[in-house]
Amino acid sequence: MSKEMIVIKDLKKSFGDLHVLKGVNLTIAEKEVVVIIGPSGSGKSTLLRCINFLEKPTGGSIVIDGIPLNGEANINEIRKEVGMVFQRFNLFPHMTVMQNLMLAPMKVRGVSKDEAEKTAHMYLKKVGMEDKANNYPDQLSGGQQQRVAIARALCMKPKALLFDEPTSALDPEMVNEVLDVMKQLANEGMTMAVVTHEMGFAREVGDRVCFVDGGKILEEGTPEEIFGNPKEERTKNFLSKIL
Ligand code: ADP
Ligand code: MG
Repeated sequence: MSKEMIVIKDLKKSFGDLHVLKGVNLTIAEKEVVVIIGPSGSGKSTLLRCINFLEKPTGGSIVIDGIPLNGEANINEIRKEVGMVFQRFNLFPHMTVMQNLMLAPMKVRGVSKDEAEKTAHMYLKKVGMEDKANNYPDQLSGGQQQRVAIARALCMKPKALLFDEPTSALDPEMVNEVLDVMKQLANEGMTMAVVTHEMGFAREVGDRVCFVDGGKILEEGTPEEIFGNPKEERTKNFLSKIL
């Protein structure tokens, strides 16, 4: 058994009267790739945002690599261990690719400029974007920007990476270059939670698929189980619409 990297117990999140997460239990082991699927509005983004503490849970607990969130006391401590890649690449438009990659490690991790630069080059190379180090985001295609966003997340040396529909905003011909980078990270042992509608990716790369509906994980299993033999009516219904 590999160790537990993310342990979520009875996670609840409400926005006022709107109960979005209604008790989510999810454990992600080190090096595991969990794909999260489900209808729009079911709470997938909210779940990821809670794991990264961009949203404050209303109830339940989240433990990252053995460290429980301790009120507000260690929120920044934990947050920097979990990287996030969004649908919209969210690069800082007024900064070059290199500056985008160096900012957080220097500001949040306190690494030296030299080290930040070295690390940035290493990850830009990994995502095939080394030659764009001095470009600005608007000089890059969507797929290139998303690969830079992944490199930026990696520069923080996170213990886990969360992806929220990373290819949904891309033109179709750019989807694969981003999925290929994610596949490579998965093969290298990165712990990942991925919200995506890319079922090919889910089948090929996912160790486990979770179907979220109405703020709960309604069904989970291996890709073979979920795609080949879903048990819940709502899972079947959802899959029949997207496959
Ligand atoms: P999904 O990613 O599965 O489409 P979300 O997690 O984005 O779903 O949203 C789930 C529900 O929570 C939706 O009804 C959405 O409108 C609501 N919601 C999300 N974020 C907020 C917020 N900051 N304030 C109020 N409601 C929100
Ligand atoms: Mg979403």
